[in-house]
Amino acid sequence: MMHRKALDGFRWDGIDHLPYKEEGSVPFKDISRQVLLSAPELSGELRYFEMGPEGFSTLERHEHMHGVMIFRGEGHCLVGDEVRFVRERDLVTIPPWTWHQFRATAGVAFGFLCMVNTQRDKPQLPSDTELEELRTNPTVRAFLDGEI
Ligand code: MN
Repeated sequence: MMHRKALDGFRWDGIDHLPYKEEGSVPFKDISRQVLLSAPELSGELRYFEMGPEGFSTLERHEHMHGVMIFRGEGHCLVGDEVRFVRERDLVTIPPWTWHQFRATAGVAFGFLCMVNTQRDKPQLPSDTELEELRTNPTVRAFLDGEI
């Protein structure tokens, strides 16, 4: 068995505290990544992402799905053309090929657990045309402009 003790500050014993993605590779802000479990037997990984009070994840889509539990604080998520306020212990699924992004509520650290397949496709970023299309929805536009 494996037992990793929780440490202060939403860290775990023996788990590396990593940058979210390679700096400058894609747009994101103030977010870290910890891979809590990576088990081939489960074909899955459990990660913990945390963003600072101004942080947001990359707007992306991909074939693989996410199962998400908010673990700390609160924020909003965009999933397809819906924007939801989410807080500690809420559950969210991101279906395949659905645009998604998470954003911390201003002034609040925001963390979530995210389940994924071990073997997964690379995320796609929206093209200018796709972004323009997303922005025709007023709710989506408000989210992308950080007004929600
Ligand atoms: Mn994703």
